[in-house]
Amino acid sequence: MINQQRIIDNFITMVEIASVSGKEGKIRDYLLGEFTGRGLQVLEDQTGDMLNGESGNLLVKIPGILEAETILFAAHMDTVEPGEGIEASLADGVIISKGNTILGSDDKAAIAAMIEAVDVLRENKIPHGPLELLITVCEEQGLKGSKHFDFTRLDSVMAYVLDAGGDPGTIITQSPCQNEIEYKVYGKPAHAGMNPERGINAIQAAAMALARMPCGRIDQDTTCNLGIIEGGTARNIVADYCHIKGEARSLTRPRLDEITELLKDTFIDEVQKQGARAEVDVKFLYSEVKLSPGDRVVKTAVRAMESIGLIPSLESTGGGSDASIIHGGGIPCVNLGIGMNNVHTCAEYIKVEDLVKDARIVLSIIREVTKED
Ligand SMILES: [Zn+2]
Repeated sequence: MINQQRIIDNFITMVEIASVSGKEGKIRDYLLGEFTGRGLQVLEDQTGDMLNGESGNLLVKIPGILEAETILFAAHMDTVEPGEGIEASLADGVIISKGNTILGSDDKAAIAAMIEAVDVLRENKIPHGPLELLITVCEEQGLKGSKHFDFTRLDSVMAYVLDAGGDPGTIITQSPCQNEIEYKVYGKPAHAGMNPERGINAIQAAAMALARMPCGRIDQDTTCNLGIIEGGTARNIVADYCHIKGEARSLTRPRLDEITELLKDTFIDEVQKQGARAEVDVKFLYSEVKLSPGDRVVKTAVRAMESIGLIPSLESTGGGSDASIIHGGGIPCVNLGIGMNNVHTCAEYIKVEDLVKDARIVLSIIREVTKED
């Protein structure tokens, strides 16, 4: 039922339309044409204006032929750099870029699969319930697009994001919540040679504090990191300022709060012992996803995979995605592996067979939901 040549052509057309985060105007126009050309209603939200980008998030509502609960499929239309001037080619069943850019299968393979599924439903008059397709912007810039989306616009009872690495069949059921943590130290400047005793060295105070703080893997569910350190003004001045950017992640919110408090308290205590002043800013980035095999959104995905001969694999990841935001927004959501490889590099590729499997997965989930109701 899936038209392999059509999905390849659509995929290649889309990846060759540059859509680096914030510059999604052209791909938005293409997608508007694709969906409205199929007689579907597309809503663009105000996120583009809020983020100073070219496009908002797109929401496509597809009415059901049958009465069933609404389900959501989601993907993002933006890419990382280098994403201008992409030329895709197909050889031996694999689609790659010319090697000087990314390919953009992250995440246009997902969009191609969604559009192909829509075509197959219509051509074959397959009975289905109501569907919602959400195509976000600025995902690669810290999930900004989905964070600005108003989830009260949705009717869906569960959601599938198609944006995970791993073979088709991969179902990400667990991902962490995350805090961004910025540590600042205020010391006192002085001439380093003439009167260092008058100064308070912010860099040294930070160093003493950081040495007492946990870093790396804390336990099976929890990690933290110190990623950037900057400070001081000159070699011969006692440094009066230093700041550090770090993060903490955990699969459970209480554990995230606990580790964040520990990091914050240790930092402030140790800096104060050095006579300097500390400030710690914590920003909550996104919620955890912690689903079990018994949850409906997972069970439906497992059955959908099995019914098309894929081996479902329930997995946990250390990263966030639009699934974190959608799940946090109250719609149970898993992230599905779509077979994209080496993403965010110029060696990115996807196999045609995986592109086709992605479309089959979307169709199979739709069928399973229809059976359930
Ligand atoms: Zn992605």
